[in-house]
Amino acid sequence: MVNKTMIKKSNMENNNIIEIKNLTKEFKDLKAVDDISFTVKRGEFFAFLGPNGAGKSTTIKILTTLLKPTSGSIYINGFNILEEKNKVRESFGIVFQDQSLDVELTAYENMHFHAVLYKVPKKERRQKIKELLEMVELWDKRNKLVKKYSGGMKRRLEIARGLLHHPKILFLDEPTLGLDPQTRRHIWSYISKLNKKENITIFFSTHYMDEVEKIADRVAIIDNGKIVIQGTVKEILEKKNTNNLEEAFIKLTGKNIREESADNLDLIKQYIRKR
Ligand code: ADP
Ligand code: MG
Repeated sequence: MVNKTMIKKSNMENNNIIEIKNLTKEFKDLKAVDDISFTVKRGEFFAFLGPNGAGKSTTIKILTTLLKPTSGSIYINGFNILEEKNKVRESFGIVFQDQSLDVELTAYENMHFHAVLYKVPKKERRQKIKELLEMVELWDKRNKLVKKYSGGMKRRLEIARGLLHHPKILFLDEPTLGLDPQTRRHIWSYISKLNKKENITIFFSTHYMDEVEKIADRVAIIDNGKIVIQGTVKEILEKKNTNNLEEAFIKLTGKNIREESADNLDLIKQYIRKR
């Protein structure tokens, strides 16, 4: 008899660590994500690009079980995001676009809090935290309050935190936004090492096309909730007949400036105003 578990197993053994089929997300009358389908292979360095408001963060929130899809089917590491939420959550780490650190705590306390939350065994906690903070060169500053950290230090701390439970996938939503080139370089070289040494699949969004050209194995571009192209950088340049990704991006998504999408605080304000 073929039972459900066996079906899942076979799914896991296939090479796709992320499988998205016909994903749609509606907010009232807005289709933020409109029937998208694509897959990401195990170990791939995958860039998810698009102008402001295109639907990147919404998609990432759905993949990481923070938002429910309106429709569609999604498997992460072989697990269904609706039926096996916990297995899905064990499979990934995440670094958010909007900072999610507690700035009134020290770096060590932030790490520790997260380790407890993600059930890292008590006796492994300190060693793991030490290892990760050393890797992002923050161990010496572990007892400093995070509100005294620079932007780059905060982002490095978030990356370290995202890796506390050895994820199979690391989701990064604009991890280098607003950072100087030195810090960006440092962060990407660190993430590249993780990708190569530990075969961690990387799924990231960014507006910096140079980062994508240098490191991404494959790219998908989303606009108005729809995937407008996917492939390797080389394939996209060939298809759009351009020399660099930025030109291809503009050809695909147009020249008009997009409004920054409303962040959660804006949405709350809008909601209050309507009452
Ligand atoms: P991106 O990350 O590509 O900039 P988002 O996924 O954040 O885009 O947003 C896609 C669209 O959905 C935008 O128009 C945004 O304003 C809208 N949106 C995002 N979250 C919500 C929400 N919770 N409620 C209503 N609209 C939302
Ligand atoms: Mg976003």
